[in-house]
Amino acid sequence: MVPGFHRPAAVYVDLAAIRQNIEQEIKHLQPGQKLFAVVKANAYGHGAVRIAQEAVKAGASGFCVAILDEALELRRAGIIAPILVLGVTQPEYAALAAANGISLTVPSLKWLKDVQTNLAGNNLQLKIHLAVDSGMGRIGFSEDSEFNAANDFLLNNPNFDVEGMFTHFASADSADDTYFQGQVDRFTHFKKLLKVKPRWIHVDNTAASVFNKKVHSDLVRFGIGIYGLNPSSNPTSPDLPVQIKLKPALSFVSELVQVHTIHQGQGVGYGSTYIADKDQIIGTVPVGYADGFIRKFQGFKIKVGNEFCPIVGRVCMDQLMVLLPYEMAVGTKVVLISNNPAAPNSIKKAADYVDSIHYEVACLLDDRLPRKYY
Ligand code: PLP
Repeated sequence: MVPGFHRPAAVYVDLAAIRQNIEQEIKHLQPGQKLFAVVKANAYGHGAVRIAQEAVKAGASGFCVAILDEALELRRAGIIAPILVLGVTQPEYAALAAANGISLTVPSLKWLKDVQTNLAGNNLQLKIHLAVDSGMGRIGFSEDSEFNAANDFLLNNPNFDVEGMFTHFASADSADDTYFQGQVDRFTHFKKLLKVKPRWIHVDNTAASVFNKKVHSDLVRFGIGIYGLNPSSNPTSPDLPVQIKLKPALSFVSELVQVHTIHQGQGVGYGSTYIADKDQIIGTVPVGYADGFIRKFQGFKIKVGNEFCPIVGRVCMDQLMVLLPYEMAVGTKVVLISNNPAAPNSIKKAADYVDSIHYEVACLLDDRLPRKYY
């Protein structure tokens, strides 16, 4: 997919907001705690390299990504800080990670053994973080026996540098702490089994940190908060503490490329799901579901000039149509997603409209949309 530089559509990112969100979180950390910026999935759609560079300026001590290629992208861009790949990396790529000083997540004893076989003869040491599945049901150790065997395997093993141990919470944004506390207890149990000595024990995502869950850890894996978005989309979640002021950084902007009148009885878009009941003015915006702005947005109101106008007809692959209240000029600015959290087209409102979460709406914005920074 090539970025569309010759089309009036882009994702704009406010870098001052990014820095401010990180700096504020750093002030909020426990004594001695560090911040690792989570920039996986192209920094949640904001552009990984540029966000990582700003995060370094704002005081981030390291990075988390989901896959090895995302870590390599940061290294190629000159990021020298620690980078942890949070997902499972195929053992055959361990040497590549080690050669680039990239830390990998350990999901199982078998993975460790397979990695050792792959590293044999390479004279490389791989940095690793032991993952504990304390209740997410996703990756990591969940049985004492396997965790004990992994510890024995790692003791005095020159192929591995045990840099960390971590778990991930399923519901750190929930007002009811029962499940969360169960995960904390399970993780504490695994910590007691440790024979190796990781430098960094870490558990917090944005929610666990900003909602002050007060679990001791050496670093916070700060993701959605970087982008100025509330970690919770759950209506029953507690409010953010008053001192936490997150500033959304992303907006999605385009412009009208055609404006024309349709007459009573005329349809708009595939399937003619919208039929004009009188003469109406339709504006066409050159973005569609191939840009990650999905078909479910039909009916959502986006800002055209100073007016909030509904998307009418189905969102096409590369274009969508809006119902204008009056004739507007070609070239009129269209804000599909606003960085103003109070706006009717904020990312939160957009996510609610399509029955999703703002993480997903941001991540879906495709590489065809250039990222523009200010
Ligand atoms: N840690 C892990 C293991 C994750 O998978 C994620 C994101 O999905 C994060 C941290 C960051 O979470 P958040 O964006 O909610 O801060």
